[in-house]
Amino acid sequence: MGTKKKLTRLSNHFYFTIDILINFIILLAKLLVLNMKKLIYTFTMLAFGLHGIAQQKSTLCGTDEHNKFLQSTNPQLKIEAEKFNKNWKSYLQTVNLNDLKKVNKLGKTSAPKYIIPVVVHVIHSGTNSSTNISDAQINSEIDFLNKSFRNLNSDSTNRREIFKDIAADCEIEFRLAKKDPQGNCTKGIVRVYSPNTNLGDDVLKRISVWDSRSYLNIWIVERILKEISNGVVAGYAQFPFATSSASTDGLMVDYKYFGQLSPSQNVFNTVTTHEIGHWLGLFHPFEGDSCNNTDNDGLSDTPPTYNPDGARSGTFSATLNSCGTDNPDLVDQQENYMDYFNCKERCSNMYTYQQKARMHYCIENYRREIFSAENLVKTGVNNVTTTCNAIPSFYSNNKNICTGGSVTFNQNIYNGTATAYNWTFSGGTPGTSTLATPGNIVYNTSGAYDVKLSITTNGTTVDSVYKNYVTVIDNKNATQANLNYADWQYANDWYEKGWRFESENGRAKWTRTLGVSFNGIASMKLEDDPFNSVPSSGIEQSFISPSFNLLGATLPTFRFAYAAALVTGPPPSNTKSTDDLRVYQSTNCGTTWTQMTGTGSVSTGTAISTTGLTYLNWATGFVPSDASKWREVNLVATAAANVRFKITLLRKGGSNFYLDAVRVSSSAKLGINDELASSINFNLAPNPFNTATELTFELTKTSEVNISVIDILGRNMGTLLKGNTNAGNHIVNLDRNALELNNGIYFVKVEIGNQSFVKKIMVN
Ligand SMILES: [Zn+2]
Repeated sequence: MGTKKKLTRLSNHFYFTIDILINFIILLAKLLVLNMKKLIYTFTMLAFGLHGIAQQKSTLCGTDEHNKFLQSTNPQLKIEAEKFNKNWKSYLQTVNLNDLKKVNKLGKTSAPKYIIPVVVHVIHSGTNSSTNISDAQINSEIDFLNKSFRNLNSDSTNRREIFKDIAADCEIEFRLAKKDPQGNCTKGIVRVYSPNTNLGDDVLKRISVWDSRSYLNIWIVERILKEISNGVVAGYAQFPFATSSASTDGLMVDYKYFGQLSPSQNVFNTVTTHEIGHWLGLFHPFEGDSCNNTDNDGLSDTPPTYNPDGARSGTFSATLNSCGTDNPDLVDQQENYMDYFNCKERCSNMYTYQQKARMHYCIENYRREIFSAENLVKTGVNNVTTTCNAIPSFYSNNKNICTGGSVTFNQNIYNGTATAYNWTFSGGTPGTSTLATPGNIVYNTSGAYDVKLSITTNGTTVDSVYKNYVTVIDNKNATQANLNYADWQYANDWYEKGWRFESENGRAKWTRTLGVSFNGIASMKLEDDPFNSVPSSGIEQSFISPSFNLLGATLPTFRFAYAAALVTGPPPSNTKSTDDLRVYQSTNCGTTWTQMTGTGSVSTGTAISTTGLTYLNWATGFVPSDASKWREVNLVATAAANVRFKITLLRKGGSNFYLDAVRVSSSAKLGINDELASSINFNLAPNPFNTATELTFELTKTSEVNISVIDILGRNMGTLLKGNTNAGNHIVNLDRNALELNNGIYFVKVEIGNQSFVKKIMVN
């Protein structure tokens, strides 16, 4: 696959970074072995570039990187891609290219051969944000696509003579869906508020996705999160042959590159046209980063081009031939939508007849359902326009607050217009509003509250009720009732006391399981997914505590025990599980979360397993048979007035997960477990000390021992001993320099089995 793909925007000048300059120098060296013509071109470009003015940043296509990433996480996709390439080659053997070309010359048919229903998910960062692009902007892009794919684009006159008779009417038309997956009237546009719209990737797609067998999903985001070093990714698509990743199928486009209306700075941009080319199986003409024809895009009417690190870029040049040795020796087809020459009024204005054949092949073999007559009825795109009811959607700046806090609500009405608004805020002040944007609502009493928005649309009233939308935490009650809530084992009152289990997709369920536990009689179990159907990016399941007043506590702790196993998923992919576990705390009732530090606060990949590195069969259904199959996590919390805890499992194909013995306490008070310390004859001397001190203790039996040093903020400064330790006398040295301790107070934390105590030490 290629390295850096450019979709450099139309510009008379283009922006030269030092990187690009270096690339040109590298390119120069490479080209010395090639022909003279190219050398002259390169000098021309270099001279031009040096005169160029920094006007626009390079924008890139992220499809190849996305494809590489998918293949690295799911080997099945690599097999699918190889199979596709092989099948395409054998298919080409059966086709007479001259016939294809002849048919192409006969001109266009009036009706499109394929109609593709489209849904556009606008993931925006607020009503007043430019990321929430208008319906008109979206419609302008659909019109533009239909011109590009039918060879009706107004800039087709810029094509050079040599490419005129190979440009194709692709006979594909795109229509915004008129029925959603539930059969309701839709404009084919979904608007979702998310502060994460600047983190555009496959994870974000889960916020709104329609069945990719019936719709082409297009996600519009503020910024695409792809790791490409020398530019901004404007869009990326998923290839049709990535069939085992159906939930992420479609394309994601930066909002600045979607739509053709002023004042968008990107009128005539072809990013979406290009990405749909990928979605229908087309490669870049410089695929493979070489001039080897068979290595490139698999087609013979797009001359191979060479694009090391995206160095060949930007401005139209009639003589540019980056692969002078190809046969026939053709200049680069800068007119092609799949190359990155996106120069205004000169470039990016055509698909070829072989690209058309390849897209049709992919539609027929990989996207059969989407254009079927049944699907056109199901998605409503065969119908005349109807007027839909508006959808009474809304969002807020926050959903978790402390008592006395406020929440700001904003309407997010789409799919139609509303003529009246009626808000109801249970537990809020004011309790109702008839404004479109009701502003701040104050919540004074703890609890979980519904928010209801009724609107009038087309003369009828439509409601949306978001159940338990706002969670208000009562700091005072938490202080009294829950401080030192030791050995909680999910008895009957956990929900009333404010403990919550949250599942991102609402499908997975936590259930109280008798007979399986770390201690006591029961634990909470999160069932595995028997169909292993979660997306490769995972699904989040969280367990959240109420808020605790830990102000003034010395080394308060958050502890829990869990059991998890590694598992191999069902065939054909046999994907190995890679669940992640992370522990967070919040000091503002859950408005924001910070990852905790210390052993067990993060477990990624195989580290999550409490049962070794053996992978169970997916059908086994893991059950921890005894206490050794559990792991206890003991973390130091912030000593603040209002502390909540959250354990998040990012489920990526794992088996059953068990949670038990969740405790929040200030138990690390000095001397609280003197009994344990004296039972092992624990001694620490000298204390205070200057350079080193010595810890001694005696074990009566082999035990799991963990001794660490913690600072007054709860940060782990280092581990002195960890692991299975034999019975007998032990001496452990604490060297101030080895742990890089400054003068001050620290704590030595000693854990033996499930018990622990803390000793204060002073370095001076
Ligand atoms: Zn691309």
